[in-house]
Parts: sequence; C-alpha cells; structure tokens
Amino acid sequence: MTDLQELYQSVILDHNRKPRNFGELAGANHSADGKNPLCGDHVHIELHVDGDVISEVKFTGHGCAISKASASLMTSTVKGKTRAEAEALFQRFHALVLGQDPQGGADLGQLVVFSGVSRFPVRVKCASLAWHTLKAALADERVTAVTTE
Ligand code: ZN
Repeated sequence: MTDLQELYQSVILDHNRKPRNFGELAGANHSADGKNPLCGDHVHIELHVDGDVISEVKFTGHGCAISKASASLMTSTVKGKTRAEAEALFQRFHALVLGQDPQGGADLGQLVVFSGVSRFPVRVKCASLAWHTLKAALADERVTAVTTE
C-alpha cells in the first residue's frame, strides 16, 4: 500500500469511528432511506432545505466502514451547498468511485479518499449509497433508494 492509500484509509476509518453529522435532525423538511442489500448498509438522511440551499443535513443508520464514512463526508460536503451544486458533486463522486473522473478527484477535497473504491466494484455501492439517498431526499421521493449501479 502506498503512503497516499494509507492516508486515505485512515481518513475513512476516522469518519467511520467518529461520523460527522450523525443523528436526527429536528425540523427536517426532506428525508429519504437508502439500502444496499448486497452489503446490508442502511442510511437515513434528513435535510433542511431553505429555498435552494441545503442548510442542514444529518444521517442515521448502520453499515460497513465505507458506507458510514461516505455518509459522514457527504453530509460535511453538501452542507451549505445549493441543490445544483449538490447534484454536480453527486455526478463527480459517482464518476470518481467508478474510476471515471478525469481528474481522479484531485479538486474534490476530502472526497478524494474514495478514489481507491474504483478498484473494488462491490464497494462502489457502499460508497455511493449516501449520495443516492441524498438525491432521493432532495427530490423528496417517499421511496427507498437502493443502490443498483
Ligand atoms: Zn457496505
């Protein structure tokens, strides 16, 4: 393992142990559930959307280290962003975990720690679960998001 991969892994383990924005959100006006049946990951995301801005976001749930760290970093990243910015980040993140981001996530801040996921196809669903669920919550679909790709 290279130093960089070790650094990325330690960030993921840190967010798994001490997830940011974990808990229930009082006054949420958007929410969605997400499940990744392949791994048994479950995430519930609650948002407070003010006009066009995601002013607050929290999550609960359980799952593997990758899914939990991804929810922690996703919530930290999209807080304060507009819907359009969050949607653009979702596209970038999805490309990153599939190994299709032209810049390899270089300008994606801490999200870059998930770049190694592309080498483990079964983990892509774990990493993208929180993002699919965010998208469902923004659309306010009262359905359960299931990661299928
Ligand atoms: Zn998982």
